[in-house]
Amino acid sequence: MAGIYIHIPFCKQACHYCDFHFSTSLKKKQEMLQALEKELVMRRDELKDEVVETIYFGGGTPSVLDVHETDRLIDSVRKQYTVGEDPEVTLEANPDDLTEEKIEGLAASKVNRLSIGIQSFFDEDLKFMNRAHNAEQARTALQKARDTFDNISIDLIYGIPISDDKRWEENISIALSYEVPHISSYALTVEPGTALKKFIEKGVVPGVDDEQAEAQFQYLVRRLEEKGFVHYELSNFGKPGYFSRNNTAYWQGKTYLGIGPSAHSFNGRERAWNISNNSLYIKSIQAGQLPLEVETLSQRDRYNEYVMTGLRTMWGVSLQRIEKEFGGHFRDYLLEQAERHIADRYLYLDGDILRVSQKGKFLSDGLAADLFMLPLEKKK
Ligand code: SF4
Repeated sequence: MAGIYIHIPFCKQACHYCDFHFSTSLKKKQEMLQALEKELVMRRDELKDEVVETIYFGGGTPSVLDVHETDRLIDSVRKQYTVGEDPEVTLEANPDDLTEEKIEGLAASKVNRLSIGIQSFFDEDLKFMNRAHNAEQARTALQKARDTFDNISIDLIYGIPISDDKRWEENISIALSYEVPHISSYALTVEPGTALKKFIEKGVVPGVDDEQAEAQFQYLVRRLEEKGFVHYELSNFGKPGYFSRNNTAYWQGKTYLGIGPSAHSFNGRERAWNISNNSLYIKSIQAGQLPLEVETLSQRDRYNEYVMTGLRTMWGVSLQRIEKEFGGHFRDYLLEQAERHIADRYLYLDGDILRVSQKGKFLSDGLAADLFMLPLEKKK
């Protein structure tokens, strides 16, 4: 099985914390759509032996597209690729785009899962992050979406410096009152080159407090688990039957094809990434050239990636799989590196599976890094 990710690189305005690839000018939207369709044609052989089980519109803000434009892209996928009988088709959407008409249009389209960028139900937080929507839009859009779609996920952000524990707890209560079956929640991170980083450096806004973020994360895990959510990945909580099929496949190392500027692809051996520039992407596709760079993963890279994703997910890291895929010395190395974290109760062995404990969950990326053969090289 395989997944197709389509990057829609447009946003109405730039959120202060965001370092994804997008443009706030929609002037090239039509050219971009044509280029995306053409890239789907150009790369069809890459999945010729695979059945596509998930299609994911990410961004950027895919909900800036009209429903017929999303459908056109889904039709292109169906035309060029073998698609399974019941694919999961997710669209990331922002509340300010989700009018009643749009939600009804989407419900009648081939999209069957909405991932809504709520982030917070409070105006103070939304203004601080420079989100394009307000609290009322967040509630109205979610209510309408809930009335129409069964499979919904919402995003929430914790660790917002101007916020506090009480507001975070209320955010979770409000989210739960809508009975959404899936929640993705991320700590606000300060990325290089973002407006947020500059504001913090200039002292205009307070910095992120890691201890507060960790406490809010632990509270979130407790509240959602009490309500029957499964914490199946560091930032993802789903009711049984509602885990993101797209993301699960990605964490389990399945093949996916990334279409659009800045999109990444993976086929088990190689990782590829498209250029992060809308004009250059369009130009290159128009000229019949794929604007991508490819890296062949070494055995060590693959081991590191497996350890990283394994520790982030409820499936953990299988020692047997490490031995089978990479050899006994990788298994011995892993156990040796893990020893002190097991002694400190951040990690534990569950039979043959190495997992993070409740105490270690918030730190899973750092714990994984301690088990790497070498630090992962980050590609831009
Ligand atoms: S809407 Fe999403 S992609 Fe666009 S700027 Fe905000 S966080 Fe980034």
